[in-house]
Amino acid sequence: MGLFDDGAQCISGATRLAAHAVQRLGELATLHPWTIAPTAAVEDRNATTWKKDEDEADVTRTLKLMGAVGVLSMLALADALARPLDVRINTPILQARRRGAKWDLRSSEDEIGEDFQALVLAVPAPLAMPLVVESPDLSNALRGVRYRSRWVLLLRSDRPVPLPGYRRFQGSPIERVAAMHSKPGHSAIGPQRWFFEADQRWSLRHEHEDAETVADLLLDNFREHAGRSVMPNYLCAQQWHHAFVETPAMSPRRIECLWDDKVQHCVCGDNVVASQVDRVHRSGVDLAGAVVAGLTYRSGRSGFSTVGRDFEQLLEAQP
Ligand SMILES: Cc1cc2nc3c(=O)[nH]c(=O)nc-3n(C[C@H](O)[C@H](O)[C@H](O)COP(=O)(O)OP(=O)(O)OC[C@H]3O[C@@H](n4cnc5c(N)ncnc54)[C@H](O)[C@@H]3O)c2cc1C
Repeated sequence: MGLFDDGAQCISGATRLAAHAVQRLGELATLHPWTIAPTAAVEDRNATTWKKDEDEADVTRTLKLMGAVGVLSMLALADALARPLDVRINTPILQARRRGAKWDLRSSEDEIGEDFQALVLAVPAPLAMPLVVESPDLSNALRGVRYRSRWVLLLRSDRPVPLPGYRRFQGSPIERVAAMHSKPGHSAIGPQRWFFEADQRWSLRHEHEDAETVADLLLDNFREHAGRSVMPNYLCAQQWHHAFVETPAMSPRRIECLWDDKVQHCVCGDNVVASQVDRVHRSGVDLAGAVVAGLTYRSGRSGFSTVGRDFEQLLEAQP
C-alpha cells in the first residue's frame, strides 16, 4: 500500500527535534521542510522536467511552507529519535507498582523482570489511569483530562486527483487533506496517497459507525472536493480514540509536565499540553529536566548517585 502518515502530518510550530535525531553516516536528514504548490496544476508541472528558468522562479515564489515533516515518514523521524534508547514496542504495560524505592512493571505477557527508578507516562489519560494508582496527586490531575476521537481515511489512487498537497476545508465532513506523494522524499509520479482527517463534530456524530461506512461517506465527500470521480485501489478508515486533547491537566508553575517526587512518577505529552508534536516534545524536555532534578536531589539524600549522573549525562549529550 506504500507509506502513509496516518496521524500527525507536519510540525507547524518551532521545534528543535531535528537536533535530537540520531542519523547514520550518509543518511538523509530525517526532518525536512514541507512546501506545497498552491494548486494541483502547479504541483503536476513540478513533477515534469523544467524547460525555462523563469518557470521555476515563478513556482518557488508561490510555494507555501506547511511545516517540518519526517523523511520518509513521521515514523522514520520517531525511529531516528529513539535510536539511542532501549525501546520495546508491542509491550503494553498493564500494571505499575512501587516495590520499596523501585518501580515494578507488568505487561500483558508477564512481569518485566527489571527494577526501574522512575516511571514516566506519555500515554493518553484514559489509558494512563490504571498506571497512576501509586500517586494520588497524578490520579487527581489526570481524572479531568478529556480527549476527542477522530476518524481519518487513507486512500491510494492511480489516477491523479486535482487537489494541492495540503488543504483545509470549513463546514465539510473532511477537515483537511494531505498528500503523502507531495512530501519531501516522495515521487510526485505514480499512484497518489492521500490522508483525510474528518471534522471534529462529524467524527463525534459517527463515533459508533463502522469503518466501512465511514470510508464510503468520506470518499463521497472527497469526490465532491475533487470535482470528479475517484476510484481508489486502497481505502482504509481508522478511528483515533484519543486523538486530540480537549481539556489538558493543569501543570504547576511554568513547566509543562507533572512530577510526583514522592514516588518518582511523572506524566508528559498531550495530557498536559495541546495536541501538537512541537508542544509534546517541549513537555518531554521539561520532564527530563524535572527527572534529573528529582533524582539528583534524591541521590544526594539516599545514595542513588549513578542514576542522577546517568540522566545528567544524557541531557548534556543533547544539543
Ligand atoms: C489524526 C491525527 C492528526 C494529527 N495531526 C497533527 C499534526 O498535523 N501536527 C501536530 O503537531 N500534531 C498532530 N496530531 C497530534 C499529535 O500526534 C499528538 O499530540 C502527539 O502524538 C502526542 O504525543 P504523545 O507522545 O503525548 O502521545 P502519543 O503519540 O499518543 O503516544 C502514546 C504511545 O503510548 C502507547 N501506549 C498507550 N498505552 C500504553 C500502555 N499501557 N503501555 C505501553 N504503551 C502504551 C501508544 O500505543 C502510543 O504509541 C495529530 C493527532 C492525530 C490523532
